[in-house]
Amino acid sequence: MVDGPVLIVGCGVFGLSTALEAVKQGKFVYILDKYEPPSPWSAANDFNKIIRCEYNDEMYAKMAIEALHLWRSDPLFKKSFNECGRILISPMNHKGRLEFERKGIETLRSLNEGLKYEFYKGGLEIGNKFEGFKDNDVPSNQEVKYNPEGGLGLAAQTIKDVYEFLLSHPRVRFVFGESGDVVSVKRYSNGEVGIVTASGYTHSASTVILAMGANSGSVLNLENQQSATGAFVTHIQLTDEEFDIYKNIPVLFDAEIGYFFPPDPLTKIMKLCLTGRGIKRSINDPFNSNTQISLPRYHNDNPTDTIPEEFVDDFRQLLNKYAPTLKNHNLFGSRVCWYGDTEKSHFLIDKVPGFTNLYIATGDSGHGYKFFPNIGKYIIQMVDNKLESDMKENWKWTSRLNDKMVDPAAASWRVTKNTTRDIADINFLKETVPYKL
Ligand SMILES: Cc1cc2nc3c(=O)[nH]c(=O)nc-3n(C[C@H](O)[C@H](O)[C@H](O)COP(=O)(O)OP(=O)(O)OC[C@H]3O[C@@H](n4cnc5c(N)ncnc54)[C@H](O)[C@@H]3O)c2cc1C
Repeated sequence: MVDGPVLIVGCGVFGLSTALEAVKQGKFVYILDKYEPPSPWSAANDFNKIIRCEYNDEMYAKMAIEALHLWRSDPLFKKSFNECGRILISPMNHKGRLEFERKGIETLRSLNEGLKYEFYKGGLEIGNKFEGFKDNDVPSNQEVKYNPEGGLGLAAQTIKDVYEFLLSHPRVRFVFGESGDVVSVKRYSNGEVGIVTASGYTHSASTVILAMGANSGSVLNLENQQSATGAFVTHIQLTDEEFDIYKNIPVLFDAEIGYFFPPDPLTKIMKLCLTGRGIKRSINDPFNSNTQISLPRYHNDNPTDTIPEEFVDDFRQLLNKYAPTLKNHNLFGSRVCWYGDTEKSHFLIDKVPGFTNLYIATGDSGHGYKFFPNIGKYIIQMVDNKLESDMKENWKWTSRLNDKMVDPAAASWRVTKNTTRDIADINFLKETVPYKL
């Protein structure tokens, strides 16, 4: 990297991981965010996220294996890692999904990992293996995959831990509030970048990395490469007795309906998510007339963006299928959570054309959290022009100005209900009890 400090915009997973790597390499780092971490805008600001190594692309599988070893060993991450494993259930007639899973396991095994997989058939076998699922309603012919390796990371907690580590580091400075709230990016005549904030102050540095997640396209012309996708999250409160029953379950991932996690150890809250039901928020692209892009509408600014009324049944169905005694629990803390999708679910990590010192690290496509321990290493390698050729190729800036908006529902491996709907067409569930995570 060139001499001088590194300026990182965004204290989410990509930004903080990059800061960790930059200080490791002796750099001075400035990090801006509108909010102190964990930011309510970060896709990773919630109880937990899945950590898994199954990818049908060897490049991501290798990265995920490297990350898994760090989750197990790095003191900053291992305290928030629960290697509870993951159960995988997919509709047996969905060829795209089944092929995706088959290839994911095959790729892992070609790398001498994924050797502890167990395969079951039907609900009875799941119930016999996991006490928490003993009353499940899974048909007797359903194929079930279980990988005891991997599990979950306590998501907001890891953001806090990494933030606190960096906060006490002598070569790191954070800027929040108006002076960290980036409103535009300007290009000086020599090609250098200025990061303009709501306070009116413009930040500059010899190296500038933009890592604003789903919101990156609000200040930089991403040429239609990324589209913000809103996913749905809700919670139920478990009693002490229920906590004891469910505390040791693996992550349960049903590709057709959704997934849920063992309850949070401190609050006994269980987080539930839906799969394949993402939404977009179309607005006129601030940089390209006649084009629409999707940008986030964050829950803290719009607390009524909860979950669609018609999806309440899907959450109930998920619980009814696997943990029927929980199915009537009150849903609370429901919200839309935004990540940045790209056409092929590849990250977008590259130098920004037209600038001499501006780099972009975004396009997480809903699978970036697991790489918290190592994505920063690759982002810095990109800045140093030292990325392996496959990463360079997959993550490169590729203008899509004349293409349609990225549609996450188009991916063959996603089991989707319909095409991606717009937030304007959603009737959101009214939650009676306000809840703040
Ligand atoms: C519902 C849901 C479930 C997910 N599940 C998983 C999972 O199981 N496993 C997995 O690996 N990944 C998962 N992900 C994806 C994961 O959360 C993301 O890949 C990851 O958070 C992306 O990191 P990021 O740094 O690119 O963006 P974020 O983490 O979203 O961070 C962006 C940061 O930029 C800041 N920012 C934005 N705009 C501005 C501005 N104008 N000025 C200053 N700062 C700004 C924000 O405040 C935020 O701190 C999930 C995501 C969602 C939404």
